[in-house]
Amino acid sequence: SGARVVVVGGGFGGATAAKYLKRYDPSLDVTLIDSQATHFTCPFSNTVLVGMNDMSYIERKFDKLTSMHGVKVFTDMVTAIDPATKVVKTAGGKTFEYDRLIVSPGIDFKWNAIEGYDAAAAEIMPHAWKAGPQTVLLKKQLEAMPNGGLVVIAPPGNPFRCPPGPYERASLIAGYLKKHKPKSKLLILDAKDAFAKDKLFKEGWEKMYDDIIEWVPAAKNGKVTKVNAKDGTVETDFEKYKPAVANIIPPQTAGQIAITAGLTDKSGFCPVDPNTFESTLAKNVYVIGDAAIAGDMPKSGYSASSQAKVCAAAIVATLKGEKPLPLSAINTCYSLVAADYGISVAAVFAVKDGKISSIPGSGGVSPMGANYQFRKKEADFATGWYQSICQDSWA
Ligand code: FAD
Repeated sequence: SGARVVVVGGGFGGATAAKYLKRYDPSLDVTLIDSQATHFTCPFSNTVLVGMNDMSYIERKFDKLTSMHGVKVFTDMVTAIDPATKVVKTAGGKTFEYDRLIVSPGIDFKWNAIEGYDAAAAEIMPHAWKAGPQTVLLKKQLEAMPNGGLVVIAPPGNPFRCPPGPYERASLIAGYLKKHKPKSKLLILDAKDAFAKDKLFKEGWEKMYDDIIEWVPAAKNGKVTKVNAKDGTVETDFEKYKPAVANIIPPQTAGQIAITAGLTDKSGFCPVDPNTFESTLAKNVYVIGDAAIAGDMPKSGYSASSQAKVCAAAIVATLKGEKPLPLSAINTCYSLVAADYGISVAAVFAVKDGKISSIPGSGGVSPMGANYQFRKKEADFATGWYQSICQDSWA
């Protein structure tokens, strides 16, 4: 059809969408815009923090999207979207016209939702919830802390990017402390009373990190309400801590451009048609990935890539004047409790009563009480999953 499709963001959602648009209809004119020249993936960034992999392991380049799939790629920050005139504007002064627009900008942070935690505080108490310089900062702090120091991880309430992510991070950091700084402790100060795969994580922690990790739920005064980056303190309603390393993961919204463009509702995320991901607030604009409200689908890289394929197919169908197929989507999330100890959760999704819902009996979590060989195999699957999804999205 030769129609112009612009994609904002080259992460799991955007890169996959751009590639699959060209696969489904090579005649499309597809342009991908990312503010960064390369994308550092959050998946496997926890392994970088503890020295299992280096930064190059999680770095994804965009050149194959161009050379192998014919996607035009620009490094620039999108600053405005006008659905009325179908135009995207960038910080570099460029203007892109589109027939269809896909927005996959990931998340941004609600600064000061935790008192004192703003962008400047994040340079001292890293969130490391976007991979890149924040990953390097947190890694350096872990390396520099004394044996016997305290690490605090403060996960937010729901919804947020990667529900099991903070607990995988706690596990791998505990493994690092056990090996390199065995007198140290790790405190998870949680804004929730339950979390993804919690029984499986706790089973692993009891086996390996019983004297290192302590998880404090919201009901036991775990929720961090205030930080002071200058004096290094972290506070809940009734306690004050002075950790050697504070990893504060604040509450989140859709990426700023989605807010600026008027694509978010009062939840801070973007309402979409559950079968096509077209915004319910702007015609011909589609939102996928962490920024979208996707019912039961967790905010994961796998969800974003699965949504990208559904969305690309829906766009190709509607451009041809055909009716898009009903949504069918999948997610699997592997987490490493140690390098040789993996756990997972999987689900298949369909639209039910106007909402993306997990199909009962379609997935589930790995079993409790599994033996070493089983956990080791799941850890191997985690690596295999990562390599194959990166190949699928960027190569
Ligand atoms: P992103 O992948 O974040 O991509 C957004 C892109 O948009 C970025 O490249 C950004 O530079 C660009 N961008 C944003 N705004 C603009 C703008 N205005 N102009 C131009 N470009 C812009 N998921 C899994 O499935 N499995 C895992 O094991 C897993 N582990 C994780 C571990 C951690 C520690 C974390 C934090 C997350 C993990 N996730 C995992 C979740 C996963 O990272 C996200 O769900 C996924 O990245 C969402 O994809 P996205 O396309 O929505 O956003």
